[in-house]
Parts: sequence; structure tokens; C-alpha cells
Amino acid sequence: MTSPSEGVPAHPTVTLRCTSCGATYADTEPLWACVCGGLLTVGYEWPAAFTADREAALEQGRQATGLWRYAHFLPPTADPGAAPVTLGEGDTPLVPLPRWGERHGLRRVYAKLEYVSPTGSFKDRGAAVVVAKAAEWGIGRMVEDSSGNAGASIAAYSARAGIACDIFVPAAAPTAKVRPIERCGANVRRIGGTRSDVTAAALDAVSDGESYYAAHNLNPYFTEGMKTAAYEVLESFDCQAPDHMILPVGGGSLFVGLWRGCQEWRSWGWVPSAPRMHVAQSTGCAPLVTAYQQGSDEPAPIDRQPTVAGGIEVVAPPRGRHILSIVRESAGSAVAVDDAAILAHRELLATLEGLDVEPTAAVPLAGLASLAREGIVSPDETVVACLTGSGLKDPS
Ligand SMILES: *Cc1c(COP(=O)(O)O)cnc(C)c1O
Ligand SMILES: [Zn+2]
Repeated sequence: MTSPSEGVPAHPTVTLRCTSCGATYADTEPLWACVCGGLLTVGYEWPAAFTADREAALEQGRQATGLWRYAHFLPPTADPGAAPVTLGEGDTPLVPLPRWGERHGLRRVYAKLEYVSPTGSFKDRGAAVVVAKAAEWGIGRMVEDSSGNAGASIAAYSARAGIACDIFVPAAAPTAKVRPIERCGANVRRIGGTRSDVTAAALDAVSDGESYYAAHNLNPYFTEGMKTAAYEVLESFDCQAPDHMILPVGGGSLFVGLWRGCQEWRSWGWVPSAPRMHVAQSTGCAPLVTAYQQGSDEPAPIDRQPTVAGGIEVVAPPRGRHILSIVRESAGSAVAVDDAAILAHRELLATLEGLDVEPTAAVPLAGLASLAREGIVSPDETVVACLTGSGLKDPS
């Protein structure tokens, strides 16, 4: 193993910037949103020596494993020698889907098995980075509002870091869903009323100043963790981008993170192109697809209907404008699929390819089938579909 190349600084410098009011913050402050309520993004200053030499920059991480091979592409920790908070996340498999592809007239479909993650969903990439930051800041308690994969993931990483954790869930959340959260020692707080009442309770809990809100739909560090999935895909294809990426989108942390990772490497000349980015949603909750069809920049107001794709039921995604701008910029699209199609593709994926995913994770395949029928994706183009959550999460 070679030591990091001389002259390649270990890390970029980082400033958080508000996308609404433009305020900036150092990344030494435990923030998840701007004081004005706006979304924060992580802005980097990349040393020229870093971006100029792809091989040297990648080599720098080779001694680490999984997501932390890219630690130097993420906001730096105050103590670079400190062990990361890790459960082994990242380095998920990328496998071809020849039989599913043949059925739909596509020859180059790949699945990124994001469900092969410590807690069974891609949320672990975001949780690892957020909880590592919280540990660095000396946070005493993590707070999150989710009875689903985000809650399970934040609970697990908090346990790993030895940080107390409160997970706020709707009063009606099924016991089977909150059990794994409780097993990790998190305090599950059931809140009556609407979904926004649950969020309000979480916000109230962090007002003590000693707790940190993981806020997976807002938190800029959570999204930064996601961009490592893009780096892995680009490296798998020998630094060529696939023609298309399609994934289930709720709040869009994965969608925004993947695009960010692809854009970074393209802007440095590390890869020649970027993929067309396709949003897949359920017809029961499709504010982004509706906006796309209407040519609007803002997520559309919708009437939510019941859907089997519970992992992407986000009625008003806070990052909606950004997601829609990525769709336009990348010449992508947005496609909605109904429950029958979602369940059919979940079954096809299992019977044709042996991959068992939760219903939400089958949404991109149902969406891809539809894009293939419409000719938006053609037979010899390379497509990566992200399979975001494990079938083991949904034993019913
Ligand atoms: C959270 C989740 C999604 C949606 O991710 P966003 O970052 O909210 O867009 C998709 N699939 C599964 C299985 C999830 O848990
Ligand atoms: Zn602001």
C-alpha cells in the first residue's frame, strides 16, 4: 500500500450554505437546517491537486473499506485519525439483470443492491455520516421522526456510537416496524395526530440544544453520505457513467446525492458524462411526477392515496425544486406506477433474478418497464436501478 501522495491534501474545506437566504455556516456547528428554515447544502473547496489526479485521490482511500474509502470526499472530521462510526455500510453489489431485462427488451440493466446494507436499506449511508458528525460534535442524543428505514438506521448507528436516541413515530405505527428500532436501544415515542405533529414533536425535543435532529429529508450530511453510491457505480463502470439511473424518490436524499456524486466527478473531468436521472414514484403519492408532467418547478399539491410503497410517501418533499431541476438538467424524466405494477415487478425480480426487495424498492423496475415501452430508454443503453430496501423488511 502506498501512502497518500505528497501534495494531495487529505480533505476539501467545507462551508454550509443556505439555499434560501444564502447564509453560510462552518461545519463545526450542529445544524440540520438554516435558522431561516431553508435547506442547507455542503459547499466544498476542492484543492486543485486533489481534483487533477483521479488515481491519486482514489488511492488515498484504498486502506479503508466501504463508504469510508471516500471519507476524503466528505466533510472532514476534526480528528482525521478518529475511527469512523461504521457498521460496514457501502460497497453494495452491482449486478446485471439479464432475465428481467430480456423480458423488457433491455440488454444492459444493472441493479445496485443498496438493500445489502447493515440495516437493510440505503439509509445507512446517510446515517453513518450524520451520526459520525454528531459524535464529533459531542451530541448527547439523536432525534429522528420515522417508523421506517430511516428510524431503524439512525437507531442502529446511534447505538454504535454510544449516543442516546429518540425516534418519534405515528401512534398507529405497526409494532413490527418499531421493534427493530427498540432492539437497538432507542426510545420510541409514539405521537398522536397527523404526520406533521410527529415532526413537530421531534423538533420540540431538539430545542434543548443537546440533541441533534437527523432529519433525513433535510439534513445536508445525510445527502452527502448518498453520493458515495454514485462514486461506487462510476468506479464499477471504469469511470464511465451509465446512460440512465432510476430510483424510488420520496424526499430525494438518494436522488440528490447520486447526482451530486456524478456531477463532481464529471466537473473534474474524471468521467466524460453524467447519467439521465429518472424519478420513480407511486401513483398514490406522486407530487414530483405530477409536477414534471405539468412542467412545474415545484412539487405539485396532491391527494395522497394508500400505496404499498410506504418508503416514498412524502407528500411535500422539501427538496422538490432541486429534484425537479436535476431531472431537467440531466434530461431525465419522472414516472408514476401503480400498486399492481409495483407488486408485479417485485415478484418478477424475485422469480427471474432471485432478488427479494420491499415493495418500495420495486418501484424503479416498474418505472423502467414503462420508460422502455415509451422508448425513453433504448435496448442497448446502460441503466442502473437502485434497489433501496430489503424484502426481509416486509415479511407480510
Ligand atoms: C427512504 C426510502 C426511499 C426514498 O428515499 P428518499 O431519500 O426519501 O427519496 C426509497 N426506498 C426505500 C426502501 C426507502 O426506505
Ligand atoms: Zn437561510
